[in-house]
Amino acid sequence: MLQIREAVLTCLNQAENDEKLIIALNSIAGQAGVEAYQIILHVLTHLDLDHQKAETSWKEIITLQADMTEALGRPISLRTAICDYFCSVHKSLKNPKVVEIHVFERTLKNSKYDSLTNMLNRQALDELLNNELNRARRHKLDLSIIFFDIDNFKSVNDIHGHQAGDEALRRIAGIILHEKRQEDIAGRYGGEELLLVLPETSKQNSNIIGERIRASVENMAFTWEGKEVKLTLSGGIASFGEETADVLTLVRKADNAVYKAKGQGKNRIL
Ligand code: GH3
Ligand code: MG
Ligand code: MG
Repeated sequence: MLQIREAVLTCLNQAENDEKLIIALNSIAGQAGVEAYQIILHVLTHLDLDHQKAETSWKEIITLQADMTEALGRPISLRTAICDYFCSVHKSLKNPKVVEIHVFERTLKNSKYDSLTNMLNRQALDELLNNELNRARRHKLDLSIIFFDIDNFKSVNDIHGHQAGDEALRRIAGIILHEKRQEDIAGRYGGEELLLVLPETSKQNSNIIGERIRASVENMAFTWEGKEVKLTLSGGIASFGEETADVLTLVRKADNAVYKAKGQGKNRIL
């Protein structure tokens, strides 16, 4: 789904003219299936249409563009036809804002990512975790999460200053983003609490990933104003199951495991 979205964005940014754009978008739909029409129209309008409605709308928009071009006796762009279609024919847009797509995409990215760590923010994380939980339930798949909490982070701030603390957070986030697999989802849950969502992953395999991250953090030290900053973190794993069937319960269970890890001396994954 993300790949289709990326392909659609590339076409929209690079196509020389509408004719080539429509051929390229139709070719994406030819390869990816009807889901592509839904994504094309979502990228262009942010409307959530079902597969069938999206496919019908797409075809009607192409016809409308040709009709408008003929009626006005001058070329009418695809975007103009889309705007007219959703404002006057399909009537699902009442007060649209016209904006360059790269400006919108940048705003969208800023609204999903935490600027300090470059990880997903809490809201985006909750949404994606909820989707993964639904997918695990529907297809009876494994799903695990690791809740990380940096150890003694208050002392890092107290000893080295808040900016060193920020740099430590950035570096730890960098390690998690580097160590995670492509399909894993990493986000900043709160201040110094980071969450890693591991789709289709058992508790045992999560432990391997968590341990790898824990060791990388322990082995990473950096120098700040001439002093060495050393860090460790603790992590708690929770896996989807009958007793952890919703996001809140799953996160609570992982959080309880972190609490236990802290009690057992920190710098460990439980
Ligand atoms: P523990 O090992 O039990 O987790 O102890 P701790 O000191 O890490 O935990 P505590 O919850 O007492 O402190 C968390 C600290 O994290 C306090 C807060 O100032 C710091 N913190 C949270 N967000 C940020 C941030 O964005 N930047 C910096 N520099 N510090 C932050
Ligand atoms: Mg904390
Ligand atoms: Mg902490």
